[in-house]
Parts: sequence; C-alpha cells; structure tokens
Amino acid sequence: MNNVSHIPSYLSAEHLGPWETYLVQIDRVEPHLAAELRPLAPILTRPKRALIVNVPIRLDNGEIAHFEGYRVQHNLARGPGKGGIRYHPDVTLAEVMALSAWMTVKNAVVNVPFGGAKGGIRVDPKVLSMPELERLTRRYASEINILLGQDKDIPAPDINTNEQVMAWIMDTFSMNEGKTAMGVVTGKPVSLGGSLGRKDATGRGVFVATVEAARRMSLDIAGARVAVQGFGNVGEAAARLFADAGAKVVALQDGSGSIRNPGGLDVRAAKAWRQHNGSLIGAPGSEPIAPEAFWGIDADVMVAAAMENQITAANAGLIRARLLTEGANGPTTPEADLILQDNGVTVIPDVLANAGGVTVSYFEWVQDISAFFWTEDEINARLDRIMREAFAAVWDAATAKGVPLRTAAFVLGCERVLQAHAQRGLYP
Ligand code: GLU
Repeated sequence: MNNVSHIPSYLSAEHLGPWETYLVQIDRVEPHLAAELRPLAPILTRPKRALIVNVPIRLDNGEIAHFEGYRVQHNLARGPGKGGIRYHPDVTLAEVMALSAWMTVKNAVVNVPFGGAKGGIRVDPKVLSMPELERLTRRYASEINILLGQDKDIPAPDINTNEQVMAWIMDTFSMNEGKTAMGVVTGKPVSLGGSLGRKDATGRGVFVATVEAARRMSLDIAGARVAVQGFGNVGEAAARLFADAGAKVVALQDGSGSIRNPGGLDVRAAKAWRQHNGSLIGAPGSEPIAPEAFWGIDADVMVAAAMENQITAANAGLIRARLLTEGANGPTTPEADLILQDNGVTVIPDVLANAGGVTVSYFEWVQDISAFFWTEDEINARLDRIMREAFAAVWDAATAKGVPLRTAAFVLGCERVLQAHAQRGLYP
C-alpha cells in the first residue's frame, strides 16, 4: 500500500464516517502484517462487490413508498458472505461497507469459515405496520436474491431486525427456489431451523470476552461495577449475564434515557419496566442521569453495545473504567482509541468482543445443513470455548507485539484473510 493513507484528504479526523474509521484501522495494522502478505492488503480496502437496490412497497393507505437498500460482500476468500441486515434511518452505503468489512475481520478472528458481508435498508421500521415491514423485507430479499444462498451469502439479524424478519427472508428465498432453504439465513425462529442460544449469543460472547480480560487484569467480575450502553439484543443479554455473575450493573443507557444505581440495578426489572413504559427512566431502584454523564460514571467495566461513533475525542477522556468492551460494531473512533490507549483503558475490540453472535450463526448454519440440532448446553459450551480461544490468541499476540488488542485482533483476522488469498492465488 506504499504507506499512503487510504483516507480521502477532504476528511478531517473529526469527521470520519464508519468506512473511513475502518480504513484508519487498516492503516494502523498494515505495518504489523507479515511482510509477504502486505502487498495483498489493498484487497481489504475495497469491498469485493456492493449492490444498491430500490425497495418500493405499498403502504397500508395505498400509497407507494421507496427505500434504498444495500448488500455488500466485502470479502469471500474464506467462505460465503456472512453478516446481518440492519433497518435504520441512518443506514448508508458507506456504513454497510464498514460493517461488512468488520464482519470479514471478525469471522476470521473467531476462525469461522465465512467471508464478510452486511446489508441494510435506510428506513425507520418503527413507523411501519407489521404488514408493511413484511412487504419491505420480502421485496428487499427479492432484490438481493442474486447474492444469497447457503453457500453464497447468509444474512442474519442486526439492529432493528429479528427472528420474524429472518423467517420472511428465508421464506421469500425458499419460495423462489421451490424448496425450503433453511441455511440461507441465521437468527431464525428455533421452530424454523434456528439455533438454541442464538438470541443471547452476542451478549454472551461480550460477557465471556470481558471475563477473560478481567481475569488477566486481576479484576474480579463478581463485585465489579459494570455500565452498559445499549439495552437491545446485545446490551440487555450482556447486562443480565454480568448481574448473574455477581457484578453490579451500575448504569444503563439507551435511546430512551440513562439510569444508574451505584449499588447495582435489577436488570430484569429494568427490562420489564422499559417494555411497559417505553423508557428506562423510572425503572425500579434507579435514578436518572444526564446522557452525557454516562461515560464518566464510576465503573470498572464499560460496555458499548449501541451503535457506531459513540466514544469520540469529546468523551473518551471521561472514561474511568479499566476495561471497555465493544458489543456494538465500530463504537470507538480512531481518535478516541488513542485517548483510551494513553489513559490505560484496555479496549476489547468489536471484531473479537461481539463475535459470539456470528459464532452461533455458524452453529445454526451447520445444524441446518446437517439437519441435526444440538442442545443449548452444547451450543453455549462450544461458544464459550471459541470465544476463550480467540481471546487468548488476541491477548497473547498483543502482549508479544506490544500493541493494543484491536491491532492484534486485526492482524490475526487480516492475516488469515490475506493468507487465504495468497494460497488461492490470483485469478486469472
Ligand atoms: N449482526 C451480527 C454482527 O454484527 C451477527 C451477524 C451474523 O450472525 O451473521 O456480528
């Protein structure tokens, strides 16, 4: 890559979008790659292919609405594309490109035989009725159909998509194929070939990775103070597992508000409260705090399980915790990363910390293909083992090279991907 930065010069460090953040991460990692693989590194700085689709749907009132959707296959060197589908008003091609690239690295870090892909539609699904959401999903699935298949590209849930959305995608693909194709998507309902343990898998992986780091840092999780940003599929499960392990969940933050209790919040009660009241504010035994006070909270562990770009140069310096676990994809900007490093905060990067979800997606895919289903205990035990092994590999490499965990994880993942390219050779 001739030591030239891949960041367009018109972008200042303060205004990096997710794709530029990813490119900075690749820039930082490149000098640490094995010399013989370095010439191949530019492969990582561009998606293999990207599809932009128009998704028109008939609304319940008879009008037609148009949405823009994407499916990006960042890299397929190690196997079929794998990665979730996001429905969110902020979805852009650049964001989906970044998310697909992080999937490439993540899948290689935990060594599941997948490439990286991601999809999304720029839509606020909360304003759509269920029938509208179904029509949106089925039309989108049809538009990206040319990319999909159990041996080509396998979607999964991401922000604002769930088991039902995956069932519609599986059905749409299957209807067009003329047969039931369970392995085309993961995160399905268990009754349709979904896997036990998939729902909590990302949060569980976040928990296991944090426990592994804490142990090496002589931090006892029982009694540790944990603050969790994001109370969706990932944050809620992680918070619950921390509480069950004897940690004190001292603060929670989501789009509805921020709450704290230095003595420890009741995570299940907070979930039930939010379900009934639509907000975390007022949850039993909690006091509200200003959203900007969240990152400075007195805690040993912070978990970022919301969205990209949450920890920036503006707030990274507030963090007093020893450990920051990235449950979300891309929550820390490259500038914030350097601040955290200077302040001695250990960051468990997204491509390692949140890989539990795709790991159990891999189990789901294997179970679908073999039509043989495992028990939840088996799944959790295998997930824990893969997370612990991946964590140890990254931790040991970081220690040996004297680099942050993010760099070590990227080196491990990128080298596996580039090694696959090297072994496959250049076509033609
Ligand atoms: N959307 C999840 C992620 O970002 C899971 C992807 C998958 O299971 O394919 O890792």
